[in-house]
Amino acid sequence: MADQASGGPLIRFEEVVKKFGDNVVLNGLNLDINAGERVTLIGPSGSGKTTILRLLMTLERINGGRIWVGGEPFSHMDKGGKLVPASESYLRAKRKRIGMVFQQFNLFPNMSVRKNITEGPVHTLGVGKDEADQRAEELLEMVGLSDKIDAHPTQLSGGQQQRVAIARALAMRPEILLLDEVTSALDPELVAGVLDVLRDIARSTDITMLCVTHEMGFARDVSHRVFMFDEGRIAEEGPPEQLFGDPQEERTKTFLKAVL
Ligand code: ADP
Repeated sequence: MADQASGGPLIRFEEVVKKFGDNVVLNGLNLDINAGERVTLIGPSGSGKTTILRLLMTLERINGGRIWVGGEPFSHMDKGGKLVPASESYLRAKRKRIGMVFQQFNLFPNMSVRKNITEGPVHTLGVGKDEADQRAEELLEMVGLSDKIDAHPTQLSGGQQQRVAIARALAMRPEILLLDEVTSALDPELVAGVLDVLRDIARSTDITMLCVTHEMGFARDVSHRVFMFDEGRIAEEGPPEQLFGDPQEERTKTFLKAVL
């Protein structure tokens, strides 16, 4: 059993099966991530990377196996081996440990930047308004947008919106930060600013990070481990200097040749 208290992984995928209709996206995936680790998932489109993040965020349900966070399962098997999903309230509690930033920012368009960041802490965590405000100011300073606290998302560039989305995720003080291709929707000149903010977070916090990205330079800089995915399987994994510098698998070599 994955028991974090006795030194087990923070995140464990155990024989996880995920299907969309007849399409088997993950077929018995095993994956362990330790607290404080920064892990990057790379690989071709459609290989199941985003699905892994969405399963962790409980935006999708598994069809088999088990996912554990902090030694506690998201679902369990009954005596007959049938998968029993956890209750919505249990999953909601689990979800509080996890923050996610999406490709398309997903800010609340009718709320100011301040409100976007304080809404979750105040309404979901019960943090006082003054404390939430102060934290929003600190986070905006960290992402370089102190002067935008009263702006609305439509007044911001894509890169600025994404930096607000990162601040919003961190305002919930998650243990785990999931980043799903967070620069893919940005104009090229805005990508570096967002990646710099993430590099800073990686340097200055011990948050566990799980990133899906096509930015190989970023993956190399921030990751402790890189997983190369292909057709729902881990084709290869290793520290970035090994995976990028001396890949062992043919699939990794052809993928890297195409993207680098
Ligand atoms: P990646 O992130 O590696 O590009 P995804 O996890 O997004 O891959 O997708 C893996 C597979 O699952 C693809 O074949 C995709 O079409 C399918 N898929 C993902 N989400 C859904 C969904 N909501 N409904 C149906 N199929 C989906």
